[in-house]
Amino acid sequence: MQLSNILDRISEPQTILMAKLSRELKAKDINLVDLSLGEPDFRTPDYIIEAAKKAMDEGYTKYTPVAGFPELRSAIALKLKRDNNLDYDPNQIMVSTGAKQVLANTILCLIEDGQEAIIPTPYWVTYSGQVSLAQGKCVFIHCGIEEDFKLTAEKLEAAITAKTRLFIFSSPCNPTGAVYSKKELKGLVDVFVKYPEITIISDEIYEYINYTGKHESIAQFSEIKDRVVVVNGFSKGFSMTGWRLGYMAGNPEIIKACEKLQGQFTSGANSIAQRAGITALTGDMTPTYEMTKAFKERKDYFISALSEIPGLKINNPEGAFYAFPDISSFFGKSFEGNTIQNADDMTMYLLNTGHVTGVTGSAFGDDNCIRFSFAASMDSLKEAVVRISKALGQLA
Ligand code: PLP
Repeated sequence: MQLSNILDRISEPQTILMAKLSRELKAKDINLVDLSLGEPDFRTPDYIIEAAKKAMDEGYTKYTPVAGFPELRSAIALKLKRDNNLDYDPNQIMVSTGAKQVLANTILCLIEDGQEAIIPTPYWVTYSGQVSLAQGKCVFIHCGIEEDFKLTAEKLEAAITAKTRLFIFSSPCNPTGAVYSKKELKGLVDVFVKYPEITIISDEIYEYINYTGKHESIAQFSEIKDRVVVVNGFSKGFSMTGWRLGYMAGNPEIIKACEKLQGQFTSGANSIAQRAGITALTGDMTPTYEMTKAFKERKDYFISALSEIPGLKINNPEGAFYAFPDISSFFGKSFEGNTIQNADDMTMYLLNTGHVTGVTGSAFGDDNCIRFSFAASMDSLKEAVVRISKALGQLA
């Protein structure tokens, strides 16, 4: 069969590959500690599940408006005011099938053949896949552990060319947990002010999983707000990954363009999820805050335990639920004839010998690191630390 060459522009996500390899080992009765997944290990809160059941009983089972139910768009506008002090009219908001579709819509609407998207690395790999699908060119800026994985104004400005149209980043960041402070964002904003043709995609999906106490959105800078697309959703903060519900806020022109595109792809997002989403945003958010509290306890344990393993270099994530240690000091070392040359080798070694599943840093544009999710039980994390420590200790 002759398949379209559009497929050559993307590859299978490493997370899916790791899940496949883990399943194969589990089928051989090998007990694995799986820290590869990017989703909260909590149930969706009951008040949201009840709202979904009620929505079905009330007949919300039909096609929805492409941009989302007006009541949900209004609830999102209220949320953006309440939590972020951002003013958006409901017509500056659009709902999609997950933040992933929001990103796809926005990227496809804003970039075309040969235009450039600047992406600081490490980054969530879907960004580059979607830019490639749009035939854009990714310009990566490496931000290492010594900079707490954050981009500076100087490095940003040096990467801008006449072809730059997009800047894409997440704060809190997947995979590093880096959270930009207001001051750090202001540094970037001062650069963007000079380049009005650049749109900023601000992925804030981990907003509520923030250990600094306050989420700062780059959209709060009025000098560039009109060029910021805020991307958010329900997957992480409300543990609703399977419900597939995300949203964007931004310039009405971009919203209209995304609506046109989505109208030909998926139409409006799932009706039941949208009704539940209204309740999620307007109800008592205690479960969200409790979940973040639990993640913080696990983070404090996991990061401190990992940092005691000789040879591991690790930063303190201020958001999200990932540890992203630098394992480069082990490169060149071996165990039973198996030499570790890079993060891919280390990930496979930890999987096959240590029986801990992580995701290679190369999947996020960083060949020195490996990502472990701490959205797992404390017992699993403790066991993972024992296994990682033993496996690394065997390398010589
Ligand atoms: N943005 C980042 C940084 C993510 O890590 C993810 C999911 O892993 C998403 C967006 C996608 O979110 P959704 O499940 O709403 O599509």
